[in-house]
Amino acid sequence: MATATIIDGKHIAAKLRAVVATHVAKLKKEYNLVPGLAVLLVGEDPASQIYVRNKGWQALDVGMNSFQYTLPETVSLTELLKYINDLNQDHNVNGILVQLPLPKQIDTEMVIEMIAVSKDIDGFHPLNAGLLVLGGVGMIPCTPMGCLMLLKQYLGKLASMHAVILGRSNIVGKPMATMLLRENCTVTIAHSYTREIAEECRRADILVSAVGNPQIVKGDWLKPGSTVIDVGINRISTQYPYIMDKLVGDVDFASAIKVAGAITPVPGGVGPMTIACLLLNTLIATCRQNGISEPKIKLP
Ligand code: NAP
Repeated sequence: MATATIIDGKHIAAKLRAVVATHVAKLKKEYNLVPGLAVLLVGEDPASQIYVRNKGWQALDVGMNSFQYTLPETVSLTELLKYINDLNQDHNVNGILVQLPLPKQIDTEMVIEMIAVSKDIDGFHPLNAGLLVLGGVGMIPCTPMGCLMLLKQYLGKLASMHAVILGRSNIVGKPMATMLLRENCTVTIAHSYTREIAEECRRADILVSAVGNPQIVKGDWLKPGSTVIDVGINRISTQYPYIMDKLVGDVDFASAIKVAGAITPVPGGVGPMTIACLLLNTLIATCRQNGISEPKIKLP
């Protein structure tokens, strides 16, 4: 029985980080500039703490400065906005990321809108979101950017392919659909109100799943030979051979590899690409803020 090629996100992310590191070293040598990434964490959610620590380590590893701030769970919106305003003014900070989700008392949209558009390395600010839709030059959200890089590495040109995106969130589904449209794919977006979702998926040359529902996409939902990008990160408990927590994607990997042509694993697929793209965005933001032409990234 045929088995899908595993798209190794860890390996491709390492290549991207190496390219970013080369450009960071060049910026330092030629302009005496070191890109600075500031990450703001509110509260003590263990998963968020791990994400934030990873981002910091990886920023340092590519030669950037890393600034991390942890604010108490009880912080007020006013205090948080003031913090962001200070980071907006700080010339050592080129990229600002506020780790989501935020506590209930905080209006997430107001927080996102407070981040200076030029430092919005997550690409969540409404102006950057609008620029993406209109085909302008803004900051592109990291997760769909990473997915697109994986697709291009594996498939080359994507034009004329039928892409189905499961999920329509502002941070993954919608920007992913826009980016694939820009690559001249025919795009279908499916969500929780979509009828005959398996049928929609079976039409996809490219399937990107960003639903957050463990293993709902089964092998018989896939078109044989299709390329499957699994964005979902879901924690499940297994009983056998012993009780443990395990991370799985939205795709039932065991049945999907028998049908797909290529597939990303979870973990080790999209996740590492998201952080590598965050570093790339910080580099791009630094160049733009200093009037330096931004690097054209080509992965080896
Ligand atoms: P989200 O904001 O919760 O959006 C989920 C989307 O999936 C919604 O549009 C929802 O539809 C749709 N949906 C939910 N259940 C569905 C079902 N049974 N059938 C069809 N559509 C369904 O989630 P998100 O922030 O986009 O994240 C999605 C997943 O990706 C999560 O597991 C998250 O942890 C993961 N993620 C991973 C990375 C990474 O770096 N690997 C980055 C970001 C997110 P409605 O709009 O109709 O409600």
